[in-house]
Amino acid sequence: MRLHEYQAKEVFADAGIPTPDAQLAETVEAAVDAAESIGYPVAIKAQVHVGGRGKAGGIKLAESESEARAAAESILGMDLKGYRVSRVLVEEAVDFVDELYVGVTMDRGEGRPVAMVSTRGGVNIEEVAHEDPDAIAREHVDPAFGMHPFQARKAVYEAGVDRDVAGDVASILQTLYQLWDERDGSDAEINPLMITSAERDAAGSAGDDVRAERGVIAADAVFNVDDDALFRQPELAAMEEAASEGDALEAKADEYGFDYVRLSGNVGIIGNGAGLVMTTLDLVDHYGGSPANFLDVGGGAKAQRIANALDMVFSDENVDSVVFNIFGGITRGDEVANGINQALEQFDEIPKEVVVRLAGTNAEEGMAILNEDLVTVEDTLEDAVKRAVEYAQEVNA
Ligand code: GDP
Ligand code: MN
Repeated sequence: MRLHEYQAKEVFADAGIPTPDAQLAETVEAAVDAAESIGYPVAIKAQVHVGGRGKAGGIKLAESESEARAAAESILGMDLKGYRVSRVLVEEAVDFVDELYVGVTMDRGEGRPVAMVSTRGGVNIEEVAHEDPDAIAREHVDPAFGMHPFQARKAVYEAGVDRDVAGDVASILQTLYQLWDERDGSDAEINPLMITSAERDAAGSAGDDVRAERGVIAADAVFNVDDDALFRQPELAAMEEAASEGDALEAKADEYGFDYVRLSGNVGIIGNGAGLVMTTLDLVDHYGGSPANFLDVGGGAKAQRIANALDMVFSDENVDSVVFNIFGGITRGDEVANGINQALEQFDEIPKEVVVRLAGTNAEEGMAILNEDLVTVEDTLEDAVKRAVEYAQEVNA
């Protein structure tokens, strides 16, 4: 489960991490009121679960009431990478001189949590990790002992953070680790952690050491919670309920009772069993495609469940083609085939190409039942995935 920026910032601020003055707004009027009470300039930020909101038009700075109104009008209700924006965070715009990255996550390879610091903040950290891994300082933590202050200082020093703010950044990193640990985080991240220049002028004119006046502030916040630990994090679980209202697809997945994760690609994936779905995701990637989602319909999936699964991937605007990978055990191939036919017969025109691979119990019966006017049937998983990737590429050709 993923908190929204405004929720993660609440959690961080409660723990003592500096965050900008901010108010949540669901209407243009409320956004303008918030801007007026916070004071200009403000940043107006879409609250949806996508990265790179700035580039996509989901973050705007406003210097006046009319700019705030225009920004709120353009962001509220907009479609941001397939998500409709129903809330914006209006916050005091930060005047910054530099952007850092700090984060804590589980390093599965090492079997230990790892804290990370980089001076390459404000950009996609995955790209930095890929292009220039040495630009991220990493410090593994023994969960039995927690993060020692010297470890936080070491990571900050190794990252090359400006000495004037090194102490602040180290203390934020330690707090972030404590939150990650105590609140059952899977990922905790501040990107950017801005180095402010707020008091530079005043200090400069007074002839003081300007650098001593710098501070840091969390301009963005990510906190993902381990779903299996939500039962002991009631406060965070309540935040999820508030958050999921805005995400039609996730709400739909809850309603249908599916294990569903939305991803950033365009090949929709439906399968039964988590391992089988993961394998399908990997194969889509292997054949040069990009998965749009993880969707496990579970065991014993009856026709209606299959129809619901199709409804889910069809309502995702990012999806350009769909691959079904069903291995019949409890789930019988003929049931699945009937579900696919019934679901697709409702359409005058099928919105996206659907490729089906059935195996296991009653697979042959199922393949015979499938209406090949509506779907492409493939005998092997590899062929099904390749075909779905091709269809998706054709849409974008
Ligand atoms: P993300 O792209 O969705 O992760 O959104 P972020 O909250 O990280 O913001 C992206 C970028 O917008 C930041 O790296 C900043 O460059 C800019 N930005 C965000 N908030 C502010 C702000 O308060 N003041 C200024 N000047 N820029 C901001
Ligand atoms: Mn960010």
